[in-house]
Amino acid sequence: MRRIVFQRSRILLSDEGVLHSPREVSEEVRDPHGGLLRVGPEEDAPRIVIWPDDVGAPDGARFLGLRSALSLLPADQAARVGRARQLLAWREQHRFCGRCGSGTELDQDGGVLRCPHCGLQQFPRVSPAVIVLVHDGDRLLLGRAPRFPPGMYSTLAGFVEPGESAEETIHREIREESGVEVMDLRYFGSQSWPFPHSLMLGFHARYRSGEVRCHDDELEDVRWFAREALPELPPPISIARQLIEAYLGH
Ligand SMILES: [Zn+2]
Repeated sequence: MRRIVFQRSRILLSDEGVLHSPREVSEEVRDPHGGLLRVGPEEDAPRIVIWPDDVGAPDGARFLGLRSALSLLPADQAARVGRARQLLAWREQHRFCGRCGSGTELDQDGGVLRCPHCGLQQFPRVSPAVIVLVHDGDRLLLGRAPRFPPGMYSTLAGFVEPGESAEETIHREIREESGVEVMDLRYFGSQSWPFPHSLMLGFHARYRSGEVRCHDDELEDVRWFAREALPELPPPISIARQLIEAYLGH
């Protein structure tokens, strides 16, 4: 896996469902903004290659969107691709210094964009978010956003705001999205979620009080589900699904 090949935001996979690194591509990264993008601090870490828009995928390979690619790839390659996608977006979106407007330059190890004029450093952005399975000891509280596939419900989630702890975010987000109060917060685990650059902090929480009502702009429905009558759930790679499976299996 020497190279991770992007065409716009799509990733090149072989027909076997692993990363495809064609021989005919030059070793030099084709970064339209200048500089090399290496996916990791190691000298032999894979490089990002930008494939021309007007050239089709090589034989035996195809370009896939990020979600499809992540669901097919082995875990180690999926993690690399998630990181690569975030680095690429960061490079594209921080071409100029936010303080003085000069063009930025990629540091040698690829981990920071520096302003050659005023010295401002810009690091890749990671946005923490909480994702919470609320339960009442029996039923699961799940919500549905309009962008979800038909019939699918998921755990409630929201971004951490400046100045908030993860716990404060949980109380605020659950209240905003469902109208209920929660208690007994239990940390479950975290997951990098490159849509576009989140770190999902997963928790279980127990219902404390309040009537469920959907009055949040982001959700079109939120309701209790009995464990034996669950709706369509998010894919197994998501921490949302893992939170639900862990609860059902406890
Ligand atoms: Zn500057």
